[in-house]
Amino acid sequence: MSAAPTVVILGAGVSGLCTGIQLLKAGISSFTILEKSDRVGGTWYDNQYPGAACDVPSHFYCYSFEPNPEWSRKFSGQAEIQAYLQRCAEKYGLIPHIRFRTECAGASFDERKGVWRVRTSDGEELTTHVLVSGVGQLNRPHVPDLPGLADFEGAAFHSARWQHAHDLTGKRVAVIGNGASAIQFIPPVAKVAKQLTIFQRSANWVVPRGDYAYSERAKRIFRSFPWLLRLYRWYFYWQLEKNFLAFGGEGRIARMMEKGARGWLESAIPDAKLREVLTPDYRVGCKRILIDDDFYPALARPNVSVTTSEISRITRDAIETKDGASQPVDAIILATGFETTSFLAPMQIEGVDGKKLEEIWGPGAEAHLGLCVSGFPNFFMMYGPNTNLGHNSIIFMIEAQVRYTVQCIQALAQRGLRYLDVKPDVQERYNAELQRDLSHTAWAAGCKSWYKTASGKVTNNWSSFTVKYWWKTRRPKLEEFKRVPRT
Ligand code: NAP
Repeated sequence: MSAAPTVVILGAGVSGLCTGIQLLKAGISSFTILEKSDRVGGTWYDNQYPGAACDVPSHFYCYSFEPNPEWSRKFSGQAEIQAYLQRCAEKYGLIPHIRFRTECAGASFDERKGVWRVRTSDGEELTTHVLVSGVGQLNRPHVPDLPGLADFEGAAFHSARWQHAHDLTGKRVAVIGNGASAIQFIPPVAKVAKQLTIFQRSANWVVPRGDYAYSERAKRIFRSFPWLLRLYRWYFYWQLEKNFLAFGGEGRIARMMEKGARGWLESAIPDAKLREVLTPDYRVGCKRILIDDDFYPALARPNVSVTTSEISRITRDAIETKDGASQPVDAIILATGFETTSFLAPMQIEGVDGKKLEEIWGPGAEAHLGLCVSGFPNFFMMYGPNTNLGHNSIIFMIEAQVRYTVQCIQALAQRGLRYLDVKPDVQERYNAELQRDLSHTAWAAGCKSWYKTASGKVTNNWSSFTVKYWWKTRRPKLEEFKRVPRT
């Protein structure tokens, strides 16, 4: 392959857009982005619940090559982040490359021709040399199998599919779940609802966010001194990066973090009984730490209550719990998270010899550097297995993955290769080391979380500092791949 390979990218979120931009920067314009919705932004378009915002500082939750002096706050909201991504897509000329309302149903690798055949859910087939997944880990809402849910007669929807047409003012609202999404929309909903009941299965560690707005003067300074903006960005990077110390084995920092979180709980919740309900029984970091200023104060409101009894069933107009109580409600919001450990499902990805990704991932997904899977040539995943973080910006990881992928694509062209396929022993060694490292982290400690499978294998999180991931991915080692020349 001496001409630039063709590339199909799945998803126009942070990863897909970044891949497109870097391909264009590398002089490769032979790519198409398939996006199932009608706008760019991915998760930042899907999640439009009230209060949706990012809990990573905006000046580090943006592309390194596209700093934004205009961020309105330390932690900007969903609409602002989506608008930023839209601006990037327009500025870099990506829009003509995007096919909106086009969903990928699956893809199979044709080894003889060295191409992927990508099927859309409309039955169309596209052929491409390289397939890049930018669908991430948090795109398919998890709807729990609660008896009676389908018969509920009020409004019921998932937080990532918010139904704005349902005005919750003066309503009795139930929220199932209390993770990162729930804690952001509970405060605004509590302000308007008649009554809000949170069905909590387990408590979370919550630390204050310390949000603030940037003044016009601050923005002017950022605009005038780009180097200062860059310095500010790296200040956030190192501030976040150090937090891995709390997850990576050594207990002292974790205990300090727990102490801080307990202090915040004490100061925000005067009711000792409620404090007990809200105190986690597992090590900090095992589940995602929640970063918020408004959640605890909202729980202290007289119209808000927390129920810990397990839900037994849902009737036409109420939620019944195992303690025999029945809570009449007008609306149910499922803040129950996402299907995280099945990664690319329900897409059917078939590699060499018809090997199915979902089958080989049966015991738990794994990949080399979270990017490539042996037997699935010329296939790269952004934000794939074991690349999620509990402490820093995922955009940093995504940029590292995109850099690696673009270099692999360039190697295909420059070396006249039909395909690159990571060697099985390379992938095996990498994952053995990764799982060894993960076994010492907070994620492997005793809790259930979306970071791991039902059997306890941590499939979602990276095992170390992000700087280590950056180092490992800065240049692909082509000797780690089976390199098949064009015939
Ligand atoms: P989540 O963290 O997975 O939380 C799901 C919640 O639903 C948990 O409280 C869980 O309880 C509960 N739940 C699930 N199934 C249930 C059932 N059958 N019955 C009762 N409760 C049930 O989901 P999320 O809050 O949507 O957040 C997902 C991820 O999205 C976050 O961890 C984060 O990475 C990302 N996010 C980021 C931001 C940001 O600011 N950057 C904001 C929102 C989301 P258990 O805890 O007991 O399992």
